[in-house]
Amino acid sequence: MTNDDETLRPATKLVQGGRRPEWTGDPRLGGGIVNPPVWRASTILYDSIADLKARGHATHDKLYYGRRGTPTVWALADALTAMEPGAEGTLLYPSGVAANSAGLLALLSPGDHLLMVDSAYEPTRAFCDGMLARLGVTTTYYDPTGGADIAELIRPETRLIFLESPGSLTFEVQDVPAITRVARTRGVLTMLDNTWATPLLFPALAHGVDVAMMSLTKYVGGHSDAMMGSLTATRAVWPKLRSAAYQLGQSVSPDDCALMLRGLRTLDVRMQRHGENGLTVANWLAARCEVGRVLHPARPDDAGHALWSRDFTGTSGLFGFTLKGADEGARTRFIDALAHFGIGFSWGGYESLIVPADPAAIRTATRWADPDPLVRLSIGLEDPADLIADLERGFAAMAA
Ligand SMILES: *Cc1c(COP(=O)(O)O)cnc(C)c1O
Repeated sequence: MTNDDETLRPATKLVQGGRRPEWTGDPRLGGGIVNPPVWRASTILYDSIADLKARGHATHDKLYYGRRGTPTVWALADALTAMEPGAEGTLLYPSGVAANSAGLLALLSPGDHLLMVDSAYEPTRAFCDGMLARLGVTTTYYDPTGGADIAELIRPETRLIFLESPGSLTFEVQDVPAITRVARTRGVLTMLDNTWATPLLFPALAHGVDVAMMSLTKYVGGHSDAMMGSLTATRAVWPKLRSAAYQLGQSVSPDDCALMLRGLRTLDVRMQRHGENGLTVANWLAARCEVGRVLHPARPDDAGHALWSRDFTGTSGLFGFTLKGADEGARTRFIDALAHFGIGFSWGGYESLIVPADPAAIRTATRWADPDPLVRLSIGLEDPADLIADLERGFAAMAA
């Protein structure tokens, strides 16, 4: 079994990824195990000094020291690499935020300029305005709805354009191919937060991105019980990321990798159901008089729909909507009345979640002009009829 076969379709790769014979079985025991076992290790013991010296030079796939990983860790990285055609490898981090920060640190130096999408996840902005600013990296935020006109913002010292599409709070779809084309002709790298779509719905490197980031905490884990992040990169960028990962010393637990691998195996079926359930709920909401706008790129009335149809192969279950003419109190009554939506951060788990969202306070390059309060839903794997009945209760409580 190998996951190096580029002709395999994504659903097959999800099943086969990382299950290399040398990681799943020991010939002396006479067979293979379906899943790569949990290999926990800090110390690795060597047969001799010659053995120690030989393995110190191996860069991958050889046990050396726990921080360099064990087969459980390599299997997850390998499976994620297989999902991104054009990728050289994947590095794993203790959280999505850690992955974003490590990638930005690896690719930027004092004096460099960064273009950051204005719809980015708020902690990503915090890293730019905090640690990167302190290290002498300048950030310019740009409008997520632009495309090739990003060229006007590129300076001689611009090194990186960071994208997040759709924005995970406001769901603008970016013209990723137009932006990566401009970046390549100008010698600027691109990094994309691909947590919403995963490579299953949007293979980022195939769209010209150099580094694809994911919070595995969300759809890959899928069960709200583990945190991790990943960076998957092209051959050109890979050495820089690897070297930075070595220096920063972040490592992930093999137990968590086993949970992530378990989630990955079912990502295709879960994503289809998240997407279908999400659209069912979004379409129902769009017909309600209490709703102003539904922010869901898979709906034809969405501003990002044309780009989404062109570039994505499906939809996940995360979207937003506004409460028409409502105030803070009405939004609170609506959310508090729901029984099947947990109030909580994160998303992509099997269970539905809801959070209030206030993008106006976060933006700097663009203005969030919609005065209606915004709500974000992560639609889970429940029967959507039960979720709709619940939302109906919420609207009744809001009106009361
Ligand atoms: C949650 C999230 C992150 C951060 O991931 P963690 O694993 O929670 O650190 C990054 N980007 C997006 C779009 C997210 O939703």
